[in-house]
Amino acid sequence: MIKFLDLQKINAQYAAELKQAAAEVIDKGWFLLGERVQTFERQYSDFIGVKNTVACANGLDALRLILRAYIELGFMREGDEVIVPANTYIATILAITDNRLKPVLVEPDIQTYNLDISLIEQAITPKTKAIMVVHLYGRTCWSSELEMLAQKYNLKIIEDNAQAVGATYLTSPPAPPHRGGGKSAKRTGSLGDAAGNSFYPGKNLGALGDSGAVTTNDDELAAVVRALANYGSLEKYVNKYQGLNSRMDEIQAAFLSVKLKYLEVENEIRRKIAGYYMENIKNEQIILPVPAEYKESHVQHLFVIRTKQRDKLQSYLAANDIQTLIHYPIPPHKQIAYAGWNNLSFPITEKIHKEVLSLPMSPVISLIDINNCIEIINKWKNR
Ligand SMILES: *Cc1c(COP(=O)(O)O)cnc(C)c1O
Repeated sequence: MIKFLDLQKINAQYAAELKQAAAEVIDKGWFLLGERVQTFERQYSDFIGVKNTVACANGLDALRLILRAYIELGFMREGDEVIVPANTYIATILAITDNRLKPVLVEPDIQTYNLDISLIEQAITPKTKAIMVVHLYGRTCWSSELEMLAQKYNLKIIEDNAQAVGATYLTSPPAPPHRGGGKSAKRTGSLGDAAGNSFYPGKNLGALGDSGAVTTNDDELAAVVRALANYGSLEKYVNKYQGLNSRMDEIQAAFLSVKLKYLEVENEIRRKIAGYYMENIKNEQIILPVPAEYKESHVQHLFVIRTKQRDKLQSYLAANDIQTLIHYPIPPHKQIAYAGWNNLSFPITEKIHKEVLSLPMSPVISLIDINNCIEIINKWKNR
């Protein structure tokens, strides 16, 4: 059986260090709002290249907290609009509606599966306050046009960086090597005004449970997010906001400090595997992902192919002991939770949801398994 993602194997690589980290937290007996979280926040800020990381309970909360903070700061209010890709995991949209803001769904680009930036301007109204970009499947979604739009209409850009921790964007042409070439790359999570990051166990930087973080260069926003995540309080028993409880556990922070050290190596392995799939999958019925353009990057959280007979391919692979998943089978606007949108039409989004299939991808999958996968996929004939 070739597993889609072998979490046990991923964490077994670091078992000794993870157990040590857990033991230290247990021995110390301090479980929340402590130095482990502070340390991880500093390390993550350094990694992403931002002034502030505010750890929280999960990726959905990170996004909710950002929007909530903008409301508290008076930048937006109930009923304002947030532009968001129609093709995303539902958490992105939940963060918006949870704050009684209105998601304005915009179609993705069929090549990148990311928000089609050329469609944003026509969706902007006087109520638009932010654009939420999602680096879907691990691929950077950014452009100078996006920055210009945000400036022109005074919009915040919020990144959903849940799937793309470690991805980059080249902000200027790379300098020649003797002048420190490559230094102009910025990480996703540092490109916009604020970003939501997820450390859900299956994400590229996975904790051993739920956790997430807000990253931002905006000190004021960071302070409000920090208060909101702790009952609305910055000083014990003094409450400035009607907040919530969304904190990262010390033990998860300790685990994440261990795993962050290996993230770049793991992402590099993911890229190699993706490259191998790209080179060797040869089946006319299958559409491979389009490689990231040179300014963008891809951390291959998911390796997603497309085919007209997706369900048949998935059953065929299952019959051959290959686990695959669909990201995602039902688009947000077709969910029961958003019954009011069920009649809306987003043909590109719907096409993607009908045709995508995610192949096994992780930093611990063996070359033998990948080769097996490729061989079986190449033999597939859809009749
Ligand atoms: C995983 C994910 C989230 C939510 O993160 P959690 O930590 O699971 O709450 C949000 N957006 C996207 C695109 C995700 O993949």
